[in-house]
Amino acid sequence: MAANLRFKVVDEAFKRGPVTVELPKQRPSEYFGKYVFNKQKMFKYLSAKVYKKMCDVIDNGAPFDRAIADQVAEGIKTWAIENGVTHYTHWFQPLTEGTAEKHDGFVEHDWKGGMVEEFEGKLLVQQEPDASSFPNGGIRSTFEARGYSAWDPTSPVFIIGDTLMIPTIFISYTGEALDYKVPLKKALYAVDKAATAVVQYFNPEVTKVVSNLGWEQEYFLVDEALYAARPDLVMTGRTLMGHDSAKNQQMDDHYFGSIPARVEEYMRDIEIQALELGIPCKTRHNEVAPNQFELAPIFEETNLAVDHNMLMMSIMKRVARKHGFRCLLHEKPFKGINGSGKHNNWSLSTDTGILLHAPGKTALDNLRFVTFTVETLKAVYDHNGLLKASIMSATNAHRLGANEAPPAIISSFLGKTVTELLEHVEKADEDALNVAGKTAFQLDLPSIPELLIDNTDRNRTSPFAFTGNRFEFRAVGSEANCASAMLTLNAAVAEALIDFKERVDALIAKGESTEAAVLKIVREDIKYIKPIIFNGNGYGDEWKVEAAKRGLDCETSAPIIFDNYLKQESINMFEKTKVMTKFELEARNEIKWETYTKKIQIESRIFGDLCLNHIIPVVTKYQSMLIDNVHKVMGIFSGEKAHAISKENLYIIEKISDHESFIIENVEKMVEARKVANKIESEREKAIAYHDTVAPLLEEIRYHVDKLETIVDDEAWPLPKYRELLFIR
Ligand code: ADP
Ligand code: MG
Repeated sequence: MAANLRFKVVDEAFKRGPVTVELPKQRPSEYFGKYVFNKQKMFKYLSAKVYKKMCDVIDNGAPFDRAIADQVAEGIKTWAIENGVTHYTHWFQPLTEGTAEKHDGFVEHDWKGGMVEEFEGKLLVQQEPDASSFPNGGIRSTFEARGYSAWDPTSPVFIIGDTLMIPTIFISYTGEALDYKVPLKKALYAVDKAATAVVQYFNPEVTKVVSNLGWEQEYFLVDEALYAARPDLVMTGRTLMGHDSAKNQQMDDHYFGSIPARVEEYMRDIEIQALELGIPCKTRHNEVAPNQFELAPIFEETNLAVDHNMLMMSIMKRVARKHGFRCLLHEKPFKGINGSGKHNNWSLSTDTGILLHAPGKTALDNLRFVTFTVETLKAVYDHNGLLKASIMSATNAHRLGANEAPPAIISSFLGKTVTELLEHVEKADEDALNVAGKTAFQLDLPSIPELLIDNTDRNRTSPFAFTGNRFEFRAVGSEANCASAMLTLNAAVAEALIDFKERVDALIAKGESTEAAVLKIVREDIKYIKPIIFNGNGYGDEWKVEAAKRGLDCETSAPIIFDNYLKQESINMFEKTKVMTKFELEARNEIKWETYTKKIQIESRIFGDLCLNHIIPVVTKYQSMLIDNVHKVMGIFSGEKAHAISKENLYIIEKISDHESFIIENVEKMVEARKVANKIESEREKAIAYHDTVAPLLEEIRYHVDKLETIVDDEAWPLPKYRELLFIR
């Protein structure tokens, strides 16, 4: 792009005003779920009998009976057509991070020369997308490409534009999961069963435990004219070059600042659309970095919350265009300022309340709280490397470990109150425990003031922090599918609880009272989980040393972190909880390595192009101008004087040459490194080669490009600069 074009897009961006969004006439509570076939709609469009059956399917996990599928489909069709819908699609979550859809019209021949709208139960229940066109890690080869998608009735169908969207699972012909939803649903089932069995020690009436997820989505907005002028943003979602802006986030003036008018209209727009689609949006604010924002709904059941997050991300991207923005969900679009995460607030609850909530009313309640807290921590401790793998990607790797996001080591912050409570339980007088029966509770677990827990002890540096009535898994990437982290966490907690119950029951069988047995095992585990608890500063270098001593996973290379999925203890955990088989885990890792390689490969290619086709020509031209000037000075003045006058220009000419030769030589080297890596057969080894030999060159070369940006005439610089990308809105 010629420099004058850069000024043109900057000008265009500066002049773009807010796009006013009209407020709906109704209140949010009235239009909430307008385009969702929720229970209200089911009640209206289904017979009483079918409605009752559907409630049983949704609430109690009863099987979705094919016998009612036709009637449900008919009800959905009527509702959809009333809303102007003409098409339907199965909407699923292949292992690409995004969602997939293929639209089909309702219309069919009526065999009288006309058409009719048709939508049969079998279309709702099942479709056969070509599985070989989606990442499958070798599970499906192209000649046996059949895959199945099937409606997940716990996630309601909804309407976008003229299309009925049907959330589905996606499996291969041979039954392996090809998506995130299948293992997620299995993990949620496992944690329900395991947690219910443990809750029953405290409250025998409980029959179901639900896993909750409240995500907080961070994102950047960039004016679309500026975006279009940055091929790196367009191709990779992040800037591969760009010198720091003089002002960035150092004034702390953006976080919770007043929301710019253009952005406010955008936020209003996405919120209205989200609410209509049943996403319970609640919070919006500016984030730490310039042009960075956050959106958070109220927490929901995890499977639904995951679907809603996927849907929200697509709404955010789509609606941004209407407002002249591009919405960046990449974890690290800009160097030197904060990246974006997606905090996953996680808890377990029963119909009587949240299990991680410490009401402090009775000792039994507190013991239940301690049990679930400790067993969650045990899961996190036993699988800390795996949990890190569950949030790792080529893009999130940029964010973790930097001084702005959780470190690349999983640990848990508990805060003073809970830490002291656990210490109290651990150190209490043994005698108190040895007394049979209820007396175990004379241990007198202190009650915990709710307010204290809620509002104190915020530790922003912890990747897995206790925040009052939930754990907040903060290492999740902004563009990731939350399901990856959530299926791993829930499965690991299920395993810990299954194991806990086995040990408690063994003591009970030996004649211990339930309470004494629970307390004994809890005390055992409090001692065991100590290494995972870290209340200090996660950004400090001392922590890295300390964490290594504690035996926590400190690996930073993404391709090697993925190995955690194939460790024996991970395979055991996933197989014991019936979430995934070894075969599925292996296939998924192939995809992870392959995706990693491709992302770095694309970055490296576009970066090389930018260096050689955009930066070097412009810089050379500018350098020639300086050389020209020096020559002219030489013509006017005599030797020594000419030299004195041209001193600075000569210095810059030389600097430019140095940077240029570094760039040209190393782009060459990078291409060679790619060629070598591309020849490697094994996806794992190839990804490691890309990590070790290609990715570092991107950073090294960038340093020189960014230096050039500070020397070369601003009028000549071809790419929008950070100060333009980040401060124009
Ligand atoms: P903060 O930025 O202070 O961490 P937010 O209000 O932005 O908090 O987001 C907190 C998220 O946690 C919201 O989605 C909220 O609904 C969710 N949340 C609150 N309590 C629970 C809980 N018990 N389990 C899961 N999520 C929860
Ligand atoms: Mg939070």
